[in-house]
Amino acid sequence: MPNSYQNFLIQLERASVAAGLSKDIVSGLVAPQHLEKRALSVKKDDASVVQLPAFRIQHNNWRGPYKGGIRFHPNVDEDEVRTLAALMTFKTAVANIPMGGGKGGVTVDPKKLSSTEKLEVARAYARAFRDVLGPERDVPAPDVNTTSAEMDVIAEEFGHLAVVTGKSIEHGGSLGRDTATAMGGWYVLSALREKLLLDPETFTVAIQGFGNAGATFADICARHEVKIVAVSDSKSGIYSEAGLDINAVKDYKESMGSLSGFPGAQTITNAELLELECGVLVPAALENQITSENAARIKAKVVFELANGPTTVEADDILLGKGIVVIPDILANSGGVTVSYFEWEQNMRDEKWTAEKVDAMLKDYMEKSALAVWEAKEKYGTDFRRGAFIVALERLLASKK
Ligand code: NAD
Repeated sequence: MPNSYQNFLIQLERASVAAGLSKDIVSGLVAPQHLEKRALSVKKDDASVVQLPAFRIQHNNWRGPYKGGIRFHPNVDEDEVRTLAALMTFKTAVANIPMGGGKGGVTVDPKKLSSTEKLEVARAYARAFRDVLGPERDVPAPDVNTTSAEMDVIAEEFGHLAVVTGKSIEHGGSLGRDTATAMGGWYVLSALREKLLLDPETFTVAIQGFGNAGATFADICARHEVKIVAVSDSKSGIYSEAGLDINAVKDYKESMGSLSGFPGAQTITNAELLELECGVLVPAALENQITSENAARIKAKVVFELANGPTTVEADDILLGKGIVVIPDILANSGGVTVSYFEWEQNMRDEKWTAEKVDAMLKDYMEKSALAVWEAKEKYGTDFRRGAFIVALERLLASKK
């Protein structure tokens, strides 16, 4: 399997070919502009000091300051951070916000850290990369295993709110940021619903991952009376052809610590969830879930990528061959970075927007992005992923000029 940056390069090349753009024209997007690797010295609760490898990779800033989360995970390495940084360049361009693409990470197992040690890692990160971050230079946000608590510490370290987004509301965060990814996804899917021929009969949903993105998306679907036939977390999944009562599922998971055994539903594996007969399959957990191994058995009409990178390039080809539509991550989950941008704007202008204003603006941005991607896909006779990359490429190349 190609490494993840090679996957990104394949996607870039495919979109360039579909849009008739030469290699020379897109050459400025092939490599990141800056790649910083530093060692963090972090003091543990027992006063010992550990050295942790840390990265900040700035892929592109033609459209504005670099933007992208900081991940704490034992698997963080240069290839992963470089890929996520590049995808942020394309995501911010599809969302049409005036920001570029960057990403950060620390190679550490957060399960082995206390909450104070996690904050120490964030503080050490802010100090180590002080010279490359800044409100008009590079604006991080939370990612896997980092939360508003770590972002608050980074803002405090810099003495400037707009240096990071995803902060707590008390420390300059934006209303609506916690639900933005799922809400943005809902607006994208709603904007495309008729075009995807999702009528009430076929608009059933199966969601892999019941965390921030997946469970909030389930909530929103339930509020709109969309039938959710299956959900899962890292341990197992549940399925009911008649549809799940999401509030009852949430209560059950909270009291039992697991989805397994939910009354009236069949317990299934994550692999089985992916292969269910349904209208929309929503991967909302991890990368590389739909691969050349299982793509031929996917039966959904639409795969809606709320997670980052859930479908490999080989699987993309198999799904395309089967007539399954994939709405790519750089469009489907761009609601999160869009409200991050709103937070940055509020901090820069010293304003506080209402939840209603944030929601109305998110809806507008998402609907416009979905339509732009649809139009590019139609114009170039291609799929949604290439269409989204083409929209981003056109915007990026225009701002380079
Ligand atoms: P989260 O940690 O809140 O939730 C992840 C969920 O996935 C949990 O329910 C976990 O149990 C489940 N999970 C873990 N391993 C699994 C497995 N092997 N099979 C099935 N489920 C598994 O994370 P999140 O913030 O909801 O993010 C989920 C995905 O969405 C990630 O790919 C993330 O990059 C992407 N995303 C999130 C945001 C955001 O704002 N939260 C924004 C953009 C993209």
